Parts: sequence; C-alpha cells; structure tokens
Amino acid sequence: MGSRTYRAEAIVLKTLDLGEADRILTLLTRHHGKVKVVAKGIRRPTSRLAGYAEPLSHATYQLARGRELDVLTGAESRATYRELREDLDRIAAGWYIAEIADRTTVEHAPAAAAFAVVETALSHLEAGHPHALVCRWADLHLLDRTGFRPELLVCSRCTGTLQERTNAWSPFDGGAVCTTCVDRSAGGLPALSVRALKSLRYLLTSDFAAASRLRVDEILERELERHLRAFMQHVLDREIASARLIDELARLPRRVPNAV
Ligand SMILES: [Zn+2]
Repeated sequence: MGSRTYRAEAIVLKTLDLGEADRILTLLTRHHGKVKVVAKGIRRPTSRLAGYAEPLSHATYQLARGRELDVLTGAESRATYRELREDLDRIAAGWYIAEIADRTTVEHAPAAAAFAVVETALSHLEAGHPHALVCRWADLHLLDRTGFRPELLVCSRCTGTLQERTNAWSPFDGGAVCTTCVDRSAGGLPALSVRALKSLRYLLTSDFAAASRLRVDEILERELERHLRAFMQHVLDREIASARLIDELARLPRRVPNAV
C-alpha cells in the first residue's frame, strides 16, 4: 500500500457542484494525468480552500486517496492569473483552453505535455498576449500532443505535394487538401489560403515565444479560427461550449481605448 496522501501540481479544468456543499474538480495534473477529486464542504463560507476550487485555479493540491474519488485536503497557490480574471475576453479564452484540454485528454493517462500547453497558454493570457493567438497555438499543440495533429505538409487525402496556392481544408480528411483532390470532390471544401497554411505550420512547430512573433491581421485571425475550430469540433465530435461565449464577446461593440 502506498501513502494515503499525495501532492500534485494541477490546474482546475472543470467543476461540478455536488450535494449541499461539495464540489467535484477535474484536475489536469503535471505528473498524475487528469483526475477527478472531491472538495468536501468547499461551498461553505468558512471553507479555506474555496479559492483553489474554481476553473483555472493553479495550485499544488494535497489529496487523500479515497474509495472512489480522491479527496482534497490542502492547497498551495502556484499562480493566481489575476490579470486574466479581470478581462472577459481573456477569461473566455482561458475557459476555452480548459475545455479543449479536458476533451482531448482521458483520466489517469499521462498528460504532462497537455499540462505544459495549458500552463503556457494561461501564463501568456495573463501576460496580455492576443487571446486569439494564444487559443490557436493551444489548439494546435493540444491536438499535436494528444495524437490528433492536423496534416499540413502534404495533402491529407492523396499525400501529394501541396502547391503554393490556395488549397482546401478538410477536418474529415485530417487537414489540408490539395487542389487536384478538391477538383475531384463533388462537394465544395473551405478554401485554405497560402498564408493560413504557412501560419498553421509555423504555429505548430513553434514554442510560444516564437509563435508570439507571428503577425496576424483580422482576416487571417478569422480564417485560422474557422479552420481550427472546425477541426477541433470534428475531433471532439461535439460543439465547444465556451467557443459560443468567445463569439458573443466578439459581437459586442469594440471598446475604444481612449474614450472618456
Ligand atoms: Zn490531394
């Protein structure tokens, strides 16, 4: 028998209230994969751990082995993401990243690579990097680390070379599709511009420091979002709930920085 308690650095991906005052936390841990734990009495006003049991909380958790779920017994903060929590766009982006990390990982399987992607993404949202770029980088790197890397080097249908011209994008086929295959297919596929293909390749092979140097105008940003969201939804086989919040925020009138 191992020890009854253990410590795990983790980020809370999801919470589910249970009974009168308890809450189930889905933790993405650095070394123990993804685990669900129960935080007992966490919703009572006196709970000293309440601040560690929200989505995007990042702490070292002390956990006791339980019969079904392990039980939260203590926590030490690792990052507060204070700036991130002050800004709706960044909160929505953080929730989006937590949601796709939850959906692309399975419980109890090693998830150190996914943890590193989420940690990097949240810390760069906190530092004020453009939230769309952080989300696209996280999309590609979570897909890559969890075995769903989109094909960007050759045609995902015929494995032929992709010419430097507008190709197409097909989540169903697994990525980029060449013009010859598009001509042969009856139904139309969304166009994949040359600069979108190059940007996807660059983001996929770059750490965030390099990725943050990519210049993305609004048209390119929208194209990348459209393609990666379609790809992610195909892989997950369902809608991404927090993507709807991002869309709603994007439709709000833009705040003018110097307005009085
Ligand atoms: Zn082809």
